[in-house]
Amino acid sequence: MNTSKRSVVPPAVSGARLPAGMYDADVVIVGFRCAGAPLAYALQRAGVKVLVVDKDPFFSDQPISTHAIQPFGMKMLDQIGLGDVVRELAPQNSAFRFQLEEEYIQMAIRGTEFDSRSPRRSKLDPALQSAALDAGVDGRERTAVTGLLRDGDRVSGVRLSNGDGGRPYEVRARVVVGADGRNSTVAKLVDAPTYLESVNNNGLYWSYFEETPVFREDPRYDWGACIHVEGDEARAVFQTDSNLLLMASGGRPEMIRKMRGDPESSLLDHLARGRLTGPLLEGSRMVAKPIGLLSMRFFMKQGTGPGWALAGDAGLHMDPTPGQGITDAFRDAAYLAEAIVDGSERAMALYWRQRDADSLGLYHFAGDMGSPEFNNPLNEMLFRRTRNSPAAMQRMTEMMDRRRRPIEMFPPLQMLSWLTRETLAGNLAPWRALPRTFRFGQMIERQQKILDRALATAEAGDLKPTLPIL
Ligand SMILES: Cc1cc2nc3c(=O)[nH]c(=O)nc-3n(C[C@H](O)[C@H](O)[C@H](O)COP(=O)(O)OP(=O)(O)OC[C@H]3O[C@@H](n4cnc5c(N)ncnc54)[C@H](O)[C@@H]3O)c2cc1C
Repeated sequence: MNTSKRSVVPPAVSGARLPAGMYDADVVIVGFRCAGAPLAYALQRAGVKVLVVDKDPFFSDQPISTHAIQPFGMKMLDQIGLGDVVRELAPQNSAFRFQLEEEYIQMAIRGTEFDSRSPRRSKLDPALQSAALDAGVDGRERTAVTGLLRDGDRVSGVRLSNGDGGRPYEVRARVVVGADGRNSTVAKLVDAPTYLESVNNNGLYWSYFEETPVFREDPRYDWGACIHVEGDEARAVFQTDSNLLLMASGGRPEMIRKMRGDPESSLLDHLARGRLTGPLLEGSRMVAKPIGLLSMRFFMKQGTGPGWALAGDAGLHMDPTPGQGITDAFRDAAYLAEAIVDGSERAMALYWRQRDADSLGLYHFAGDMGSPEFNNPLNEMLFRRTRNSPAAMQRMTEMMDRRRRPIEMFPPLQMLSWLTRETLAGNLAPWRALPRTFRFGQMIERQQKILDRALATAEAGDLKPTLPIL
């Protein structure tokens, strides 16, 4: 990415009707966290005049989120120039593990080209915001977007209102970016259509615990981050900053509703039952009030339009079970900054279409991992066989590095050969889950073709914002 100072006339605006001098900023970014802060930083460094606003006070926590950053997220931060800022906040995860009952797949991090960290949002968000403000970004805290300005059908600025009771005012900009999270006001104001939607009715509770010597010394914990599905429950452990572990427990709505009465002891009970979490409680203390969340809605929305763009959760929100949202927000920041700096309408359209084509498989994988059906004998077999196959582990690493799509993880011939070997060994259970997995794979392949076609059409120069019908 080119971060040299240069003057930019962002795209969507080559056709804008307002004369150049009438803009107060090149870009207004609404939302100053995982998507908005790195985007503001990257644009400022590229010489774009940025104004960023957030209705929250700056340097505040974003408590409704855990915070594992995937290797690809660290790569995106490095591309923007913020990787070292995050490296200072929390130790490296030695490995990232996904476990299903006793079977697991583990991606090594320490000693490889990859990195992964899990600083708490109370550290991560302020560090990203400080970097952007230190780079010279004009930031306004406690300032909410309440409306958009328009010039014909083009968005040409925002109406702002600050929480100190000051008068609402207007700011004109060539591009307005909604980086304002899953309940995005900007997405609502531009009426961004949704073409992929799903719900997870389950929930989770999480809190922070003192890290004990068991975590550092016991060979069972040769990872820094783990998501573990057991029965119809899920647990997560992330080594975070300040010698703390984040531990989370998720499960069916009934279980979460019961936990509401006494979250502290319910969370402790639930974690104590976990094979991996139980031993981590011995001699440890919970140091923060548990936070819980029940039922979430996920979606993919149109990513750009005349004079506007969406980044992070505002445009694409996926099930948090495998912890991909922050990484997606960093990816959007890196790619949208490039598109805005490029200055062509084509670059903006490609940002949207590329995001969709790259994210579909992960969107469905995340939803599947968050569903009670994920725990089935076929997936257990896939975990075990993958761990023992260097070729499959290589594919897994490439998938985590977003060079390979989840659907390409298990080629049909490979699957058939593994199923045959299980059958010969007397294990017929994986076959039971095969029809569901087959139907799921077919649906993803069909949708992927549609999104790949939309990308190819935009690459060929057709920039009409035709919505994919999935
Ligand atoms: C329970 C849970 C656990 C998660 N765990 C992980 C994990 O381990 N790893 C991971 O990668 N992801 C995780 N995620 C996902 C992650 O939290 C999000 O993907 C990420 O926060 C998205 O960042 P963002 O900047 O797009 O939005 P947000 O972090 O939501 O920031 C949006 C900002 O916009 C501001 N804003 C909103 N409306 C306005 C307005 N009208 N005017 C001005 N400002 C406004 C808000 O105040 C906020 O500061 C989790 C999510 C949940 C719910």
